[in-house]
Amino acid sequence: MYPLSDDFARLLPELSVPWQAEAPLQPELLMLSEPLARDLGFDPVALRSDRGIRFLLGTELDDAAHPVAQLYAGHQFGSYVSRLGDGRALLLGERRGSDGRLRDLHLKGSGKTPLARADGRAAVGPMLRESLMGEAMHALGVPTTRALAVIATGRRVIRDDALPGAVLVRVADSHLRVGTFQYARSTGDLELLRRLVDFAVARHVPEAVEAPDPALALLRHVVAAQARLVASWMLLGFVHGVLNTDNVTISGQTIDYGPCAFIDAYDPAAVFSSIDHAGRYAFGTQPAITLWNLTRLAEMLLPLLSEDESAATALATEVLEGFAPAYEAAWIAGMAAKLGLSGADGSGHASGEVAELAGEFLGALQRHRLDFTSSFRALGGIARGGAARFGEHSAADLGLDEWVARWLDLTPDAERMDAVNPIYIPRNHLVDEALDAASDGDLSLVERLAGVLARPFEERAGLERYAAGPPEGAPPHRTFCGT
Ligand code: AMP
Ligand code: MG
Ligand code: MG
Repeated sequence: MYPLSDDFARLLPELSVPWQAEAPLQPELLMLSEPLARDLGFDPVALRSDRGIRFLLGTELDDAAHPVAQLYAGHQFGSYVSRLGDGRALLLGERRGSDGRLRDLHLKGSGKTPLARADGRAAVGPMLRESLMGEAMHALGVPTTRALAVIATGRRVIRDDALPGAVLVRVADSHLRVGTFQYARSTGDLELLRRLVDFAVARHVPEAVEAPDPALALLRHVVAAQARLVASWMLLGFVHGVLNTDNVTISGQTIDYGPCAFIDAYDPAAVFSSIDHAGRYAFGTQPAITLWNLTRLAEMLLPLLSEDESAATALATEVLEGFAPAYEAAWIAGMAAKLGLSGADGSGHASGEVAELAGEFLGALQRHRLDFTSSFRALGGIARGGAARFGEHSAADLGLDEWVARWLDLTPDAERMDAVNPIYIPRNHLVDEALDAASDGDLSLVERLAGVLARPFEERAGLERYAAGPPEGAPPHRTFCGT
């Protein structure tokens, strides 16, 4: 129907297993991102046809397509697993976007592969959740994989209960992960590792294709991209929840929306995943754990950095030492924007001044357990001359009156603030409510929520309940990995 390229399958055959998607019993398209479809050169009307749905499901592909299950390894909660890979997912192939860059078209829930650790299936709720979260992140300006479509399969999926099954059609700059490099290195085949580096450089760092040291260029690129990514999460209150090395992309896109959530009350210790007992992936640990994950990538690349082991280690260390300053710079620039302070990079104000103001404000949010998103949004109103209030509380109640006066003296730019401090985020209680209805066959709440989240910075009348925090007395949110 539409041609797909098979670069990954063809150039790196050692890193995948050819496989076919399972045919659904009774497919029903639940969600299609028309803008994303058009961006990939697909006609949304054609994709909605029976044939289009079979194309999306990978059961009616062009002869040139060679779907594969990708192999990878990974550290899961710190323990190394030598063979993970797509157990219920497939890479259908690549497709060029309107910007000329290749994207992966990938399925999740398309049936058991030789790498399966369970039934190979996925349920409607978690696949719609991944779609909602990814689209919200995209609208918020965060690099992310995106959902092109969610298709119900008509099959029952057995979890604690019998649930309706679905396939997610996901689009990513690539599905290369730190875990892909761990797997390639574990084969002991350095030529394979070198080919993987060349593939990743061609895809993600094209300016370095001719570089004398592509592995070094790649490592620098990934460290910088991940520093920016995790800063963007920290500036929005996003907790990924399962930052295993197989969930850290080489592209710098957020991937694998499982037990993720946005914080309500500001709390660096916030954890939502039901299995993260130690808080390894808590909100505030994300920069440090990302550096840990990047260190695993650097280790895998050592033999390509230099033949001399200590020279290779010195090079890798130097690049890894760049993570903290890159992260800090991205965070400070983002925080300057959230506080409405001048200069695209916050340059109008000393970064020390921004850091100090931000630290005091965040300290007050934490002490009073105030909502992160709506408190930053409230600053925009205060900058416009509104009362110095944060929900129920006056600035004076919170001990923030002196802070507000000092900040207003810097003449914050409210417009700049409203463009980066969202009013609508995928709050846990809203997402759960919409997914519960969808699992019972009513998609209207998901559609409405998706519509709200598509324009997160633009306040609209009648959407007050989408801007509000969780209901008073609601139990702490938990997300489960049983997807
Ligand atoms: P995750 O926890 O989602 O990162 O998955 C860990 C590993 O288990 C990956 O190799 C997945 O492909 C595999 N896996 C997860 N869920 C399933 C499932 N329902 N069927 C088969 N394999 C699965
Ligand atoms: Mg994963
Ligand atoms: Mg997963």
